[in-house]
Amino acid sequence: MYRERGIGGSKAEVDHRKHRISDVLDKHLDRSTPSSSRPTSGKDLFLFMNKQQPPDYNNTDHLLSKDNDASDVESETDSEESDVSGSEGDETTWISWFCNLRGNEFFCEVDDDYVQDDFNLCGLSTQVPYYDYALDLILDVESSHGDMFTEEQNELVESAAEMLYGLIHARYILTSKGMAAMLDKYKNYDFGRCPRVHCCGQPCLPVGQSDIPRSSNIKICCPRCDDIYYPRSKYQGNIDGAYFGTTFPHLFLMTYGHLKPQKVVQSYLPRVFGFKIHKP
Ligand SMILES: [Zn+2]
Repeated sequence: MYRERGIGGSKAEVDHRKHRISDVLDKHLDRSTPSSSRPTSGKDLFLFMNKQQPPDYNNTDHLLSKDNDASDVESETDSEESDVSGSEGDETTWISWFCNLRGNEFFCEVDDDYVQDDFNLCGLSTQVPYYDYALDLILDVESSHGDMFTEEQNELVESAAEMLYGLIHARYILTSKGMAAMLDKYKNYDFGRCPRVHCCGQPCLPVGQSDIPRSSNIKICCPRCDDIYYPRSKYQGNIDGAYFGTTFPHLFLMTYGHLKPQKVVQSYLPRVFGFKIHKP
């Protein structure tokens, strides 16, 4: 096993660990030339390190300094944290651990059976570095290779597992089982509500603007106004949109047609001293 989970790991440790993983990744992504002493399995590592995520110009997250992050967003998600911390018992699976991390509230838990079926993973081995190790990690398969890796490599495997899980998740939520899991979350308002006043707090669904990983971050889609918005929590807003995909909310509403809300005809009318503004 690459690391210990479950009873021993408090929420704070888990968050800390996640931050460390992103720090390591950032460090690698910033490095323009690979070091000459790459490990033997360095080809994948090198490819992975150089796969930079293009900036999402629509996303204002990058305008926020790191110091600002904590303020309003933090308080909002803190309450969600309380039911997350470690009373799950001795055996927490990787999948359930991952889905309970802060910011990962949009993910549903993919069935083990689904992950174990090679057919469902077709094509992913070419997209994800350290594919075999990442898959073992997701499925909690004990691996002897864990001892061979440096701590840094283990962290890269963990990041690869996150990406692999995301891409499997995007496929899973289009199946009937996956959609049923997402239905529960939707009914629970887990994906947030539309910020538009005339949508009257309509629950939203997660959506990606691209099915290609590292293209853009996740958005939420309002079925009432058919528009997309940034998730309220910055942690959720940093999730890759490809882990949910472009199809999900629309197929979801076609599947559960009775959930499709009536369109709102009302719209906001700007006025100056009570008069409508003349549009030339
Ligand atoms: Zn709306």
